Amino acid sequence: FVNNTNEFFEFCKENEVKFVDFRFTDMKGTWHHVTYMMSAVSTSQLDNGMPFDGSSIDAWQPIHKSDMILKPDVETAFLDPFTADSTVIVFCDVYDIYKGQMYEKCPRSIAKKALVHLSESGVGDVAYFGPENEFFVFEDVKIIDKANESYYRVDSEDGEWNDAADMEGGNMGHRARTKGGYFPVAPIDTGVDLRAEMMQVLEQVGLEVVLGHHEVAQGQHEIGIVFGDLIEAADNVQKLKYVIKMVAHLNGKSATFMPKPLYGDNGNGMHVHQSIWKDGKNLFYKQGEYGNLSEMARHYVGGVFKHARAVAAFTNPSTNSYKRLIPGFEAPSILTYSSQNRSASCRIPYGAGEKATRIEMRFPDSTSCPYLAFSAMLLAGLDGIKNKYEPVGPMDDDLFELPLDEIRERGIPQMPHTLRGALEALVRDNEFLQPVFSKEMIDTYQHYKFETQVWPYEARPTPFEL
Ligand code: GLN
Ligand code: MG
Ligand code: MG
Ligand code: MG
Repeated sequence: FVNNTNEFFEFCKENEVKFVDFRFTDMKGTWHHVTYMMSAVSTSQLDNGMPFDGSSIDAWQPIHKSDMILKPDVETAFLDPFTADSTVIVFCDVYDIYKGQMYEKCPRSIAKKALVHLSESGVGDVAYFGPENEFFVFEDVKIIDKANESYYRVDSEDGEWNDAADMEGGNMGHRARTKGGYFPVAPIDTGVDLRAEMMQVLEQVGLEVVLGHHEVAQGQHEIGIVFGDLIEAADNVQKLKYVIKMVAHLNGKSATFMPKPLYGDNGNGMHVHQSIWKDGKNLFYKQGEYGNLSEMARHYVGGVFKHARAVAAFTNPSTNSYKRLIPGFEAPSILTYSSQNRSASCRIPYGAGEKATRIEMRFPDSTSCPYLAFSAMLLAGLDGIKNKYEPVGPMDDDLFELPLDEIRERGIPQMPHTLRGALEALVRDNEFLQPVFSKEMIDTYQHYKFETQVWPYEARPTPFEL
């Protein structure tokens, strides 16, 4: 792996790189790219950045102030496994030339600022995030050109390119596979080879893959990767989505991370495991306490819960997100914590030791921009530590069975039930974000989500209503 600009050029030479693909992430988490000829990339360019048109990205710059700069992080360089010609991908931050600083609407820059805030707060020096992005694989409608068989590389011993999978089978529409279930092996689990392929390509792009398995719903899967610090973990989500979608696509299928594609079955979560460390010590661990959880960790959870309705604007930012957060499908709606309990918003994995003790926030989903979602949770958690907020709980019962009356009587807080609810909460409750998120950013984000999600959605009659 690459440590500096010199090593970057060496790496490119060794791999006979022809193209450099610079990538950045917008506010909704979409990855964008611009591809340079290798011969056109110089050291000074890598140091100073490349100009691009910021007005073409949703809710970023107006047309009369559109010049922005992409600042590459050469340490993130990796080979694109899907291009026919050797291409290196580099993560970039967006720089505001008018203000001479990071662009305030660039999620990756915001995440970097959140990390600086963490160390300046004195609480810890690193925050680890372990996301679990569930997904469905559906049959695709597209027919891919069979003549063009070199779609992507799998590191086989003889270094050969593997052929595209058989694309025959025709137009199946976006129909789900038959019900798979969590446990049965093949042939009921029909995703074995597809997941194996995904897992290998993920390793090729530098992720540490642990396991893959079928999930509870029909055609639903999960691939588990090792956690990382805030930036690494968010970068990994971008890589993971890219690889999973591409491998599915090249096999004539569609992968989707949409929170609730199917009525009446489990949805796709992005559970996020979290812990804060200082001087090599896990500050979330305290032996003998409930779940071996330290007071600091409990206050962190308290902070995330206190601000959860506003945080949801970043962790659950689509109208579809809220169709997942209903009782009965292993996705939470009640803001309490518990060891083991998968119906609570925060689970403490049972029996983890000093190194592995962490909290698992179960409400987020993959329609979030990972940089913003992780930053928002971190800031809410830090606010909880500062103000010693206590979360409601622990509650170890099956919360899906909890009657609404009891939830109301006991004043147990809940996640918002709509994106509108989350955005309205964000408008009222955003001070905890302000050490890192500018007011302009919060305002733009909130308007953008109303315009592109809430209003178009609320205006449409649905089949159910008909
Ligand atoms: N699919 C569930 C969710 O929406 C989680 C299921 C699981 O990982 N046990 O969060
Ligand atoms: Mg999992
Ligand atoms: Mg899962
Ligand atoms: Mg989980």
